[in-house]
Amino acid sequence: MEKSICLLRGDGIGPEILEQGILVLKEVAARKGHTFHFMDALIGGSAIDSCGEPLPEETIAACKASDAVYLAAVGGPKWDTLAPEKRPERGLLGIRKALGLFANLRPAVLFPELAGACLLRSDIAARGLDLIVVRELTGDIYFGEPRGIEVRDGSRVGFNTMLYSEEEIRRIAVVAFETALKRRRKVCSVEKSNVLETSRLWKEMVIDVHKDYQDVELSHLYVDNAAMQLVRDPSQFDVIVTGNIFGDILSDEASVITGSLGMLPSASMGSKGPGLFEPIHGSAPDIAGKDIANPLATILSAAMMLRLGLGMPDEADMIEDAVRKTLRDGLRTPDIMEEGARRIGCSEMGQSVCERL
Ligand code: NAD
Repeated sequence: MEKSICLLRGDGIGPEILEQGILVLKEVAARKGHTFHFMDALIGGSAIDSCGEPLPEETIAACKASDAVYLAAVGGPKWDTLAPEKRPERGLLGIRKALGLFANLRPAVLFPELAGACLLRSDIAARGLDLIVVRELTGDIYFGEPRGIEVRDGSRVGFNTMLYSEEEIRRIAVVAFETALKRRRKVCSVEKSNVLETSRLWKEMVIDVHKDYQDVELSHLYVDNAAMQLVRDPSQFDVIVTGNIFGDILSDEASVITGSLGMLPSASMGSKGPGLFEPIHGSAPDIAGKDIANPLATILSAAMMLRLGLGMPDEADMIEDAVRKTLRDGLRTPDIMEEGARRIGCSEMGQSVCERL
């Protein structure tokens, strides 16, 4: 197959971790007879430095013209004093919007080799953790109108609007059920329908979409209970589908309990056009340029890109297997270092994964 991939290296550790992901993709292409055409575009602080804005028009055009977008991370102290609309992180929001990415998929997997890093009690961790949060990304209280701060009866009030249309709920529910079909066929829909009308509509629509997916098991949880269940027994979950604000919080919770920020990939998908694949962590300016960053989240994001964005599931498996082998062989970057393991740097980790493909 021949595919084009737009590279957004970004800032901080971005260029060094993305480089390892690119090497892995090139190795996969060589072994499987594919051709990947890579093109670079600017985003974040590096784009601000070069052309004064975090998301140049050329970047949007390059992303739209590609089959998938592969992003590292943006941001850093150098740009922290800029006005909010000029900051590197605006580039991220902008590209998600420009590509119409309404579904954010975040797997949280506890690799047995890294069980020691898990924040949960060992008997809970032993039951395993392999779930994916499907979060709606473009609606909800973050975007609903009206919103603002105004004076009412002599004092200021702040207000936002939680809002979902039937169609927005339907399309994210479809993503969740389709995702479950490729996994353990369980979807848990998370909302707050005991209090919120938006959530009542959410639940109604998810139940309606479920009629087309009868071989997937559907359950429902209120968000407060879901937050508890995630730490009490995450092994009960396969796919969690939820709205933007609940998903924001739950996906962070789900990933942090694995204990390894440098290990977690993500995918953002729209209804058509290229998806965006990136690690969940930021640009880690504190360790940039030292060749000690963990590139595995970025490499695992490449696996998500192959599986979800480019229709190459076997190649995705290849990468995930190679990452597992690398960990099993006791190779660790400093952030996941443990007794008895061999400490290596970012580039050696990328090389080690390539060798195990
Ligand atoms: P961060 O995720 O960059 O770093 C948090 C901590 O985790 C740091 O100690 C860092 O060294 C460590 N860390 C992160 N990724 C790592 C990796 N791959 N290997 C080893 N250690 C790793 O979060 P932060 O410090 O809050 O933010 C730094 C900058 O990144 C800020 O400018 C922020 O706005 C930006 N940011 C960007 C994104 C993104 O691009 N998607 C996401 C979050 C934060």
